[in-house]
Amino acid sequence: MRLGDSGRWRDAGLATLAVLPLLTLALLPAAGVRLAAAALWWAVGLALLWFAGGLALAARRRARPLQLLASLLHGLRAGDYGLRIRGGGGAQSEVAREFNALAAHLGGEQRHGRETDALLSQLLASLELGVLVVDEQDRLVELNPAAEALLGETAFTLVGRSASQLGLAEWLHRPVPLIDRRGFPAGEGPWEVRRVMFRRRGRPHRLLVVTDVSRALREQERHAWRRLIRVLGHEINNSLGPIQTTASLLRERASQPDPTLSEGLELIERRSRSLGGFIRRYAELARLPPPTPDRVELAGLIRHIAALEERVAVIVDSDASADVFLDRAQFEQALINLVRNAAEAALETGGGVRIRWRADGGVLLIEVEDDGPGIAHTENLFVPFFTTKPGGSGIGLLLARQIIEAHGGSLRLLNRQGTSGAVAVVRLPASAARAL
Ligand code: ADP
Repeated sequence: MRLGDSGRWRDAGLATLAVLPLLTLALLPAAGVRLAAAALWWAVGLALLWFAGGLALAARRRARPLQLLASLLHGLRAGDYGLRIRGGGGAQSEVAREFNALAAHLGGEQRHGRETDALLSQLLASLELGVLVVDEQDRLVELNPAAEALLGETAFTLVGRSASQLGLAEWLHRPVPLIDRRGFPAGEGPWEVRRVMFRRRGRPHRLLVVTDVSRALREQERHAWRRLIRVLGHEINNSLGPIQTTASLLRERASQPDPTLSEGLELIERRSRSLGGFIRRYAELARLPPPTPDRVELAGLIRHIAALEERVAVIVDSDASADVFLDRAQFEQALINLVRNAAEAALETGGGVRIRWRADGGVLLIEVEDDGPGIAHTENLFVPFFTTKPGGSGIGLLLARQIIEAHGGSLRLLNRQGTSGAVAVVRLPASAARAL
């Protein structure tokens, strides 16, 4: 587009044309032409009118480049950065050059902004951290897929709702980083929440970053337990060995059969043996080696585990064939523990146990469901040695969870909704379920 033409000659021509009648009238007396007074007034009037018209035309011609520039600037404001103009020379060329440079700069900024936005969206989508954006009215305006999974709903139903409607008000008002110990659809937590203020289109917003810190905390816990068990185990074993041998020697050598003495010695022997077994089992748990995964046919593995349980009916509720990538021995042990717990719970009520599995968006879900009385103390389930059973060890669930987490998965034990009984939910990541 051209901003205007140089038009210097045209302007000169127009000016000459505008003054020509007046000039002619001025030269008439010199040329010896005399007009009647009335005719002279008419001629002067018409010449002045002609001159005024010429002036108006010149003013419009002069304003045209500015009008054009105004409409081009309007285009820029509306985001049309592809506009380019050519100047008609002199100052106009300079204006055109500056305008083109500005349009190119704004276009570049816009492209850069779009690319940054696209990169940011991809980054947010691939993050395992939940990211939520909340506006100044505490309304959720954006969230990434990990945050959707955390809250168990899609952005479509979540965006626009207030933080207090979503039960997240304290994430906005408590000092950060804060630890939220509530369970969410994505897991039991605890969750660490960090908050950052930023401005978007001039308005204050808050960015919330939510991390599942359960693994890190449990890893620390495990380290502490391992250290403790190593020290305790060493001390206890040092004392147990001699106690056990001395007790059995004494019992053998008691020449006169004395029932009190031999009962007492037998008790010492039995208790020290069971204490030794207890320490050994926990030491094994603490020394669990990293899994060595292999291709495993899941349906066959689960049918085999179901058949091992003879006290209650264990129904295998799925028949989908699924090859998974797991450490067979370890995973079998984890499922045996879950099925055993479910069967023991079901024994109390005379109910049954069901095992089912399904692929869910690349993730493998395995559920062990029972008709038992349900879980009374959900907060203690994974505490080492916690048991409600006479003769229970309290490490079955812990070992199962440790194995499943070593495979990159998670284990949750929940009460069933609307009915009695519990369900253990094993979630294995795409890496374990990749042969599905
Ligand atoms: P143990 O079976 O030796 O008690 P676990 O670690 O396997 O050890 O289980 C710990 C506790 O968790 C159990 O004593 C029981 O109270 C509870 N529990 C586990 N599974 C279930 C279940 N399916 N239903 C009800 N309670 C359960």
